[in-house]
Amino acid sequence: MKCPNCGNKNIGKLGINQYYCWNCFIELTLTDGKLSLSQIEEDGSLTTLNDLFKESEREAKANGF
Ligand SMILES: [Zn+2]
Repeated sequence: MKCPNCGNKNIGKLGINQYYCWNCFIELTLTDGKLSLSQIEEDGSLTTLNDLFKESEREAKANGF
């Protein structure tokens, strides 16, 4: 598994279909073969980063998930 954002393999598992990149501090959620990327704000809310990526870059298989 690698992070679609930074390419680092330091991915932790938060729960079922939920992962966390310890390098760039984003949350990854796996849904229907696609990864959703979210930034965790200081107040604990999530901001989606999906708009910054192409569909193909968010393919779970392409990132080894
Ligand atoms: Zn990362």
